[in-house]
Amino acid sequence: FLPHLVASMETVEETYIMIKPDGLQRGLVGEVISRFEKKGFLLKGLKLFQCPKELAEEHYKDLKSKNFFPKLIDYITSGPVVCMVWEGVGVVASARKLIGSTNPLQAEPGTIRGDLAVQTGRNVVHGSDSPENGQREIALWFKEGEVCQWTPTVGPWLRE
Ligand code: UDP
Ligand code: MG
Repeated sequence: FLPHLVASMETVEETYIMIKPDGLQRGLVGEVISRFEKKGFLLKGLKLFQCPKELAEEHYKDLKSKNFFPKLIDYITSGPVVCMVWEGVGVVASARKLIGSTNPLQAEPGTIRGDLAVQTGRNVVHGSDSPENGQREIALWFKEGEVCQWTPTVGPWLRE
């Protein structure tokens, strides 16, 4: 009875996940998507996209003053990225755990960056750091109608 109450209090959220150009070039798209699918989150938006400089700068606007900002913008716009919206209970924080620390050498084995990357400047994937930023980033990267609402038939086996 109690666990059911606790579960029902957990909020369903959305997060913006992006496979960066190195992830696409290295053939890691399926691997990254698979980890989120297997965890049990719901894919609601997916597209390959060549990011314009202005969008990259808006997405990373909080980092504008950092010395690595120009290199970061060059990196993100160096080739197509894979843009995704994932939904689930606690998905924002959980996705950050699945992705691992910003510096892949410090990321735990078992995480995407821990298993698949070496350098901070080539760390394969982005994930929103709060539900608010998730909504901000989804609105930035996806147009109206590009995010799909659908009900997986396995729903009751994923969410109580
Ligand atoms: N980054 C970098 N050098 C740094 C810190 C960050 O090149 O010293 C890049 C890296 O690609 C990182 C992105 O900037 O993923 C955004 O930085 P943030 O601190 O938001 O890390 P994240 O949220 O991606 O873990
Ligand atoms: Mg960040």
